[in-house]
Amino acid sequence: MLKGKTAIVTGGSRGIGAATAKKLASLGANIAIIVSSSIEAAEAVCAECAEKYGVKARAWKANVADFAETKETVAAIKAEFGGVDILINNAGITRDGLIASMKEEAFDAVIDANLKGAFNMIRHCSGLFIRARYGRIVNISSVAGIMGNPGQANYSASKAGLIGLTKTVARELAPRGITCNAVAPGFVETDMTSSLGSQETLAAAVPLGRFAKPEEIAEAVAFLVCADYITGEVLRVDGGMAM
Ligand code: NAP
Repeated sequence: MLKGKTAIVTGGSRGIGAATAKKLASLGANIAIIVSSSIEAAEAVCAECAEKYGVKARAWKANVADFAETKETVAAIKAEFGGVDILINNAGITRDGLIASMKEEAFDAVIDANLKGAFNMIRHCSGLFIRARYGRIVNISSVAGIMGNPGQANYSASKAGLIGLTKTVARELAPRGITCNAVAPGFVETDMTSSLGSQETLAAAVPLGRFAKPEEIAEAVAFLVCADYITGEVLRVDGGMAM
């Protein structure tokens, strides 16, 4: 279905990003993973994609928050794969704390990685998409960006910002055949949620009564990548949490 296409997945070394890279590879896409430090884990995901699905897959080390570094990395991926067709902005971090005591650095770090990171990647890929008159962008937002969440002012602001970015990019690039959508997960079983406390207690806030598996988020991402007539959408995959 995606044979011959190249997908960049930021934060593809573990969790939702790794599941998404494998899902897109299973549909035939070549995979370029970008991570800021966990390069060996990213290379292991690439090796699995190549072995299982016969696609080309490679990992790059870059900080998505860095404009110049992401520019160079997108250029290197284009040189290696011959083009870029799909961009999944999944890299993200948390630095939780109550607003009354949140450090300025904690606010800046989360906005830089989660929101500016997506801007940087879209900014550097959009020229390639426009020239090809094709492109699929999926930004990983969160229910925290829809509902807010105590202790996550920085994170919720970054994820709400991603929704505004998604809708504007969707409107700007639609005439060129490019779609831009967001997926808003609720609780997902990954390293990010492993320190939050008992899953059972937290899952009480989820109508479907459990956390999502990363693969369930990857399914939604792949659906949006394959959809030609959906753009500017925010697809909640949250077990009913934010309805
Ligand atoms: P995770 O397990 O912590 O993985 C995060 C990934 O992002 C890693 O591959 C990490 O690699 C990469 N990354 C972080 N900062 C980066 C940077 N500055 N530049 C490049 N790569 C960077 O997270 P996850 O739970 O899978 O979450 C993935 C996305 O889904 C995030 O955007 C998150 O906010 C969102 N989300 C998660 C949940 C959840 O419940 N887990 C819910 C809603 C939304 P390095 O450490 O090597 O950089």
